[in-house]
Amino acid sequence: MPQPARRLEVFTESVIREMTRLSNRHGSINLAQGFPDFDPPVELVDALAAAIRGPHHQYAVTWGAPRFRQALAAKHQRFTGLEIDPDRHLVVTCGSTEAMMVSMMTACDPGDKVIVFSPFYENYAADAILSGAVPVHVPLHAPGFTFDPDELRRAFAAGAKAIVICNPANPSGKVFTREELLFIAGLAEEFDAFVLMDEVYEHIVYAPHQHTYFATLPGMWERTLSCGSLSKTYSITGWRLGHVIAPEALISRARKVHDFLTVGAAAPLQEAAVTALQFPDSYYAELQRDYDRKRDVFLDCLRATGLHFTEPQGAYYTLLDISPLGFATDTSAAEWLTREVGVTGVPGSSFFREPEHRYIRFHFAKKEETLRTAGEKLTAGLRRGR
Ligand code: GLN
Repeated sequence: MPQPARRLEVFTESVIREMTRLSNRHGSINLAQGFPDFDPPVELVDALAAAIRGPHHQYAVTWGAPRFRQALAAKHQRFTGLEIDPDRHLVVTCGSTEAMMVSMMTACDPGDKVIVFSPFYENYAADAILSGAVPVHVPLHAPGFTFDPDELRRAFAAGAKAIVICNPANPSGKVFTREELLFIAGLAEEFDAFVLMDEVYEHIVYAPHQHTYFATLPGMWERTLSCGSLSKTYSITGWRLGHVIAPEALISRARKVHDFLTVGAAAPLQEAAVTALQFPDSYYAELQRDYDRKRDVFLDCLRATGLHFTEPQGAYYTLLDISPLGFATDTSAAEWLTREVGVTGVPGSSFFREPEHRYIRFHFAKKEETLRTAGEKLTAGLRRGR
């Protein structure tokens, strides 16, 4: 066989998704891949049933069905105050996964350097490598997951073309403060770099923390590609609806990448999702209340194990420090938890550039009863020991 592409040798398949497969094989509670076990809002399911009966079975406009783009522009404008033109400032993608890939390929040529914080969501390094770009990692230091301003400045000064920021952050649960973001904005300006934002958890932020949309910072609209998705906000991860929002000069290029990658997101799903984008403010308040409760329930369960864990400021992940359990690696711990305890998380090393094997990442986008059962299993299993 000829030599297949060498760039595929420097990263593995997603460990997050692999843990879902492992969980399915063992019938364990899957707190690995972040997706809900509860239904999306019933209005949305009804809208999908209606859309399926409608005339939406062929390709939508490549960069998004007009009604969906209008609703998305209006919703984004409502939350950010930015003026979004549905015809010029956005492209609809297959999830934020594609949105981030499109942003990377829009911003970077092969050989360009891209700053990626560590810990980071697995996809970013793979996105960079697939684009021919080179990820340059800057650590977020535990316990607060703060960056060292000098370290970050050095990474920019070494010639970064772009920086990737997940805010609220997966897996650390960090919500970047306005001051931190302003500092990054200053560096992006000084070193003329793009900012690739993954803001899929924009609506899951625990008080008193507050989400700042990066593109709203002074001067940042021009150099920011803001990626988002409907997956987490409306509990529809399987619908694969995401988007890039950016100025026209970037979107006109991003459309090309998107067009040749996937042509478009599913037409009937875009049609149905208009309903979600028109939900009133009370929907978002209730979503937040639900996640406040889930976070409290799950963290209480983890407290009962006696182990340390991170308290998320946003998103729905926590890193449980399993070092006292004495496993050789986090991977063997995650496998043991799946097999013997019946709860699956993601080995934390998958999110770190550094050799960090202390953590298992669990998510809590689950029904409270699922979280309680998982908590009981964890406490009993860890007490029993290996
Ligand atoms: N964001 C989710 C997680 O980190 C997974 C998303 C995905 O698998 N595409 O678990």
